[in-house]
Amino acid sequence: MAHYKSNLRDIEFNLFEVFGTGDRLAKGPYAELDSDTVHSILSEVDRFVREDLAEQFADADRNPPVYDPKTRSVTMPAAFKASFQRLMGTGYVSLDLPEELGGTLAPRALWWSLAELVLGANPAAFMYAGGPGFAATFWRLGTDEQKKWAQIFVDKQWGATMVLTEPDAGSDVGAGRTKAIPQADGTWHIEGVKRFITSAEHDMTDNIIHYVLARPVDTAGAGGPGTKGLSLFMVPKFHFDDETGELGERNGAYVTNVEHKMGLKASPPPAN
Ligand SMILES: Cc1cc2nc3c(=O)[nH]c(=O)nc-3n(C[C@H](O)[C@H](O)[C@H](O)COP(=O)(O)OP(=O)(O)OC[C@H]3O[C@@H](n4cnc5c(N)ncnc54)[C@H](O)[C@@H]3O)c2cc1C
Repeated sequence: MAHYKSNLRDIEFNLFEVFGTGDRLAKGPYAELDSDTVHSILSEVDRFVREDLAEQFADADRNPPVYDPKTRSVTMPAAFKASFQRLMGTGYVSLDLPEELGGTLAPRALWWSLAELVLGANPAAFMYAGGPGFAATFWRLGTDEQKKWAQIFVDKQWGATMVLTEPDAGSDVGAGRTKAIPQADGTWHIEGVKRFITSAEHDMTDNIIHYVLARPVDTAGAGGPGTKGLSLFMVPKFHFDDETGELGERNGAYVTNVEHKMGLKASPPPAN
């Protein structure tokens, strides 16, 4: 039996009896969701995380991701990878997305109830599954061109990371030294070292989109000291065709190590 014992009755008590979520369903922005549908989504996700996702928790701890310094790639444990792909296939991420990106508008309390189940069963899986949610933020803040890219990221369920921390810039994120150098073709060349980046390299999605804080140089109206001088850059692991999403050349952002931490540890590369 897996480690995770969920408490669906408690989640539903909070959702329906404390927060009155049922009163807001089946009308207005949530017209597509009624109480029966929400109960069945919750019980299906509950069943999936207990019977499937939670099963991989101990296995992935004993058979952790393997970093290969030659290819600078990470191979994930097979059972975890298969379970993660089933999680993405349940469609649960669509409740975190706006309708314009193919999602189903859902009360945030419902989304976080589902998140509690997934996080409780296997927190690493929740982090790896964040790509579409990150893309939704990119879509909300992005230009028309970037909105098109965000749709590709969602459709292809590419992974994503947030890339803030540097060896000398943790709590004091405004001390970051990573530079963004403008290029003649309108793109940017990013130079710097980041660390502790969750899900930065793995073989579970075809591409990984890194959202990177860097400081533009030689750019009027941008850059300068502190947090106000930082801008956010989209750095794909692989370049992609912005109409079809077809993968192109490998970009120059690589991981150099994997942290040994609880839950889903890294193991040394296999001996040759
Ligand atoms: C498991 C894990 C996952 C992570 N994932 C990501 C990620 O995906 N992306 C990313 O960008 N980063 C990530 N991080 C990095 C994380 O955000 C940083 O560790 C965090 O910002 C703290 O930075 P630091 O580790 O350099 O510690 P420091 O900033 O060096 O702090 C060290 C100690 O000093 C204390 N301290 C710092 N400043 C002050 C102050 N002004 N006054 C009093 N005390 C202070 C801190 O509380 C702490 O105890 C991750 C870290 C971990 C452990």
